[in-house]
Amino acid sequence: MGVPCVRVAREDGEATRGRLAEAGLVDDGHDITVADGSLYIPVTDPAAVPEEFVVVEFDAPVREGQTMPADLLSFDPSYERIGETVIVDEDDPDRARELADAILESDLPVTTVLDRASKIKGTERVRDWDLLAGDDTEVLHREYGSEFLLDLAEVYFSPRLATERHRVVEKVRPGEHAFDMFAGVGPFVIPFARRGAVCVGTDINETAIDYLRENARRNGVADRVTAICGDVREVAGDYEGWADRVVMNLPHSADEFLETAVALAGDDCWLHYYDIQHEDDPYGPGERAIRAAAEPAYDVCVETRHTVRSYAPHEHNVVLDVHLTR
Ligand code: SAM
Repeated sequence: MGVPCVRVAREDGEATRGRLAEAGLVDDGHDITVADGSLYIPVTDPAAVPEEFVVVEFDAPVREGQTMPADLLSFDPSYERIGETVIVDEDDPDRARELADAILESDLPVTTVLDRASKIKGTERVRDWDLLAGDDTEVLHREYGSEFLLDLAEVYFSPRLATERHRVVEKVRPGEHAFDMFAGVGPFVIPFARRGAVCVGTDINETAIDYLRENARRNGVADRVTAICGDVREVAGDYEGWADRVVMNLPHSADEFLETAVALAGDDCWLHYYDIQHEDDPYGPGERAIRAAAEPAYDVCVETRHTVRSYAPHEHNVVLDVHLTR
């Protein structure tokens, strides 16, 4: 079975392995392999690999003597890793316990096991967790070369959106003004600032804003990041006409904030609008809402209509990249 591996020229192998090991990304469960003149280094979290490296699927052999959770269980386990924490989603407490024990007993470098105990809820979009192993719910996550400290029980965060975020990050130009209306701990703001953008991130969750400030420091971009705690509708007045780019990742109710997004927009502005809609018309409601808010003051051009992931049966999480020109 293929596993994610960084492919490098053999002569760059040791330096690359060292950098990946430093970032805690080398997958010790599989062997580093030479094939076709290249070296294949297995990685635990492909989304966290710095962007200068190439990640491919490769059939790296399981390391002799390594024990994985599946080796210790009578069922095929499903789990997600974020830093040294493993997230499981088990309704049956006995099965959750069995899985947590197998994860801890395996050779995975894990300190904490968390079981999802509720759906994401409330204005701050957080969920409850059962702590099956470890001391707390704070994690250190790495994504495309950025580092994020966050508490899963206090703030919203999804490592599954890493690829989508990276798609947007690659559009950012040095010096541009980027405003993230629902910034969380900074998974858009921090990489935007690392590309040289001047960023403002707002969030109504005070803990998320504390982490955003901490993450700006950790990633060396505090001088380009302004983090503001509050309802973006109240904060936006200070930034009217300021933004070259606006990110709106509050998919269930982004339409209620479009008037604010348009007020933030400069004469030429990109809007990244996340939405959750029925598969019969996933993009129509968002596009109509954006046109209603921005026209006729702006020309509205929808450049990308993209499905990020399936959200629920017949419902999609989608994004519209929209160019607003006054
Ligand atoms: N952008 C982050 C990410 O991708 O991880 C966080 C997205 S999360 C879905 C939405 C965030 O919006 C939450 O952190 C929540 O606290 C914040 N939020 C909700 N209503 C808000 C409001 N009126 N003003 C500012 N932030 C708000």
